[in-house]
Amino acid sequence: MKKDDSGAGAAVAEPAARDRIAMEVTGLCVEVRTAQGPVRVVRDVGFSVRPGQTLALLGESGCGKSMTAQAIAGLLDPVAETVGGRVLLDGRDVLTLPPRERRRLAGPGLAVVFQDALTALNPVYTVGSQLAEPFRIHQRLSRRAAAEKAVELMERVGIPEPRSRAKGYPHQFSGGMRQRLLIAMAVALRPTVLLADEPTTALDVTVQAQIMELLAELRSETGMALVLITHDLAVVAEQAEEVAVMYAGSIVESGPVAEVFSRPRHPYTRGLLNSVPAERPRGTRLLSIEGSPPRPAAVPSGCAFRARCPMARDRCATDPPPLETTGPGRASACHYWKELADA
Ligand code: SF4
Repeated sequence: MKKDDSGAGAAVAEPAARDRIAMEVTGLCVEVRTAQGPVRVVRDVGFSVRPGQTLALLGESGCGKSMTAQAIAGLLDPVAETVGGRVLLDGRDVLTLPPRERRRLAGPGLAVVFQDALTALNPVYTVGSQLAEPFRIHQRLSRRAAAEKAVELMERVGIPEPRSRAKGYPHQFSGGMRQRLLIAMAVALRPTVLLADEPTTALDVTVQAQIMELLAELRSETGMALVLITHDLAVVAEQAEEVAVMYAGSIVESGPVAEVFSRPRHPYTRGLLNSVPAERPRGTRLLSIEGSPPRPAAVPSGCAFRARCPMARDRCATDPPPLETTGPGRASACHYWKELADA
């Protein structure tokens, strides 16, 4: 796939834009400082996403997916540090940008939505003024023009009576409405990439569906690429075209969702799929993956999944399986992926 290094904005999805790469992450490594020394929590993570596309980063909690998102967005906790890798956004490595330039990117380049909408919104300012801020800072609009844009945005994300509700404070909105406000703030400047970390986890099922629908609409309207971080296979199946499955800080399988979900080539992916009710005939027992993921400080030698893997053999205890290409656009980090492919 040809990369566009022109540095031009990717906010508009022209037909050719689908061949470009909006964001490319390679070799991303993150460490956390502990009393026992640094612990690697994200290991050599790489993926790319095209304009208008949704890529899901899927995994159980503690697999490193949120840490990956925070590293990309420059929002790691002070105890964590990015120790390797590149994040190319429209051809520029955002990890090497000075803090000021990086902050300037937040909005038009790389925007983020995290799950906790109440703490992400400032309780002492009206939502209208918070939504207007990006327009004042980045587009230097007057107070009045920015306020008008804020009302338009609220209307766009489905907030009823936006003009009067713009004068309200975050606590006066429901959880679902607050999440809509956060999404509105994130997409205000039509970002090249939106990074959404479990954006619907705290919401009820109906509101979840509405939020996901809103994200899909905005994606197709603006051509932004969406990186969706989730533990929910149903969300991946419905929303994403590409998936990268993470385990113990690494990507263990990646490829088009339809292919990965119908013919997994890693025992972990197969285990995740087997644990979902819809994947099994009615009345049969669910097969959950026995055991739990290793703690980051105690990842075993060889394959990190071996203690839970029904296919593990001697070699798995000594040789770490590399993430290797298993077909067009597909990769797996299992020595024995061919056995799954042939099954
Ligand atoms: S490399 Fe071995 S332990 Fe790891 S997933 Fe494959 S078969 Fe299982």
